[in-house]
Amino acid sequence: MARRRFRNRWPWWFAGVLLLVAGGGFVAGLLGPGHWDDRPRGSVEDIERLARRDDVNLLFIVIDTLRAERLGSYGYERDTSPALDRVAASGVRFARHLAQSSWTKSSMASLWTGYYPARTGVTRYDDIIPSAARMPAEILKEAGFQTVGLYRNGWVAPTFGFDQGFDVYQHPAGRPLPPAVRMANPTLSNKGTDEGLVENALEFLRTRSTGRWFLYLHLMDLHEYLYDEESALFGSSYSDIYDNSIRWTDGVVESLLWSLARLGLLSSTLVVVTSDHGEAFLERGFEGHAREVYRESTEVPFVIAFPFRLEPGVVVTGRTRNVDVWPTVLDLLGLAPPEGIDGRSLRAELLATARGEHPARSEEIAIADLDRTWGQRGKEPSRTIAVANGRLRYVRSDQPEGPLEQLFDASDDPRELRDRSAEQPGTVARLAETAEAYAESEPVWGEPPTRELDELELKLLRALGYAIP
Ligand SMILES: [Zn+2]
Repeated sequence: MARRRFRNRWPWWFAGVLLLVAGGGFVAGLLGPGHWDDRPRGSVEDIERLARRDDVNLLFIVIDTLRAERLGSYGYERDTSPALDRVAASGVRFARHLAQSSWTKSSMASLWTGYYPARTGVTRYDDIIPSAARMPAEILKEAGFQTVGLYRNGWVAPTFGFDQGFDVYQHPAGRPLPPAVRMANPTLSNKGTDEGLVENALEFLRTRSTGRWFLYLHLMDLHEYLYDEESALFGSSYSDIYDNSIRWTDGVVESLLWSLARLGLLSSTLVVVTSDHGEAFLERGFEGHAREVYRESTEVPFVIAFPFRLEPGVVVTGRTRNVDVWPTVLDLLGLAPPEGIDGRSLRAELLATARGEHPARSEEIAIADLDRTWGQRGKEPSRTIAVANGRLRYVRSDQPEGPLEQLFDASDDPRELRDRSAEQPGTVARLAETAEAYAESEPVWGEPPTRELDELELKLLRALGYAIP
């Protein structure tokens, strides 16, 4: 819908004329039909120079519930994500990227702060990110950016501490669903779509004052499996509809990129795309997320597009994590990330890969962690912790009869369905030690503040499919 609407209303020649009128200095011919990409070609030196530029804006897109391996650029056989694939192919794609939880609030707290869940302490439904946390929006605001966040998931609401550093932080009011969406999703209520959120974002970009900006968009249609008839390409099973919804969301992102090009902003904007967790489709008897931390729920995309095209794009194959996202982005922009955090900047690795050097293969440990009783008032935590190391993933889950330990090896079992723990007791013991040391780490700001959710919030979160008593 998004793509079709744009093509109908804004044929390429009209977009080109607009750009010339706007004095953006672009050549109209660069915007051929189907090509939003008007960025100049760039080099490794241009990536290095970003830190010294004072005109670069930042667009940070979180696509809630996006499982990496369902994107074409991550090897999926279906054409679910042509626009995101194009972004990845002309920028940097991190091929093995782990989210730190499979539940939005805990995962997003780690993404923003650069600390693992045990260190943020934000693991339960009523936990709040403490004000002592140093958030990227605070750093960007101090550096002179206008900071705007638009979200449609209640778990990242200001009342949970996620608005720190934002000049504007809003959950835009839902608009009536477009008829084509309503027809394909008869059970949906009129609580808006990501198209509405993007409209709000464009309103900000059109009316903003001069100066640099940081815009965070938290897209939510995929979480709700929303799609329209044009993106209904892959069938009607639960898993097919998820793919349809990725295609829809990809179209929403593409329409946003077109708009940035039209506003003359694409060549001065760093675009970052990632997700808070994946989604399971009965691989092990579970559907959805926020219940376990196996690969299908925690391996997410991480893609950076520069204000210029890289040809070819860069693929970083070493293990990376959501706690590394902000140290990397801030470092690219010449800003210092907070000290002592669990995440690290991937800038050096990125530059080395872009130069064609092969950085030492990273055997870095990556952890995902979930308290499975996060939504149950008064219940003792029931933790499941995954330790990814190379091609191995160790998963330890609390059970009434004692912890269940599993070991998976993606080198000959890419879906990680065969438990190897009995075959490799030495490896299990080594990774169990890592998990144990991690489990004993304390929240850096002490136990987080909490608050009771009111009935309206509970209703909204239940409407998202979360089973909160
Ligand atoms: Zn989520």
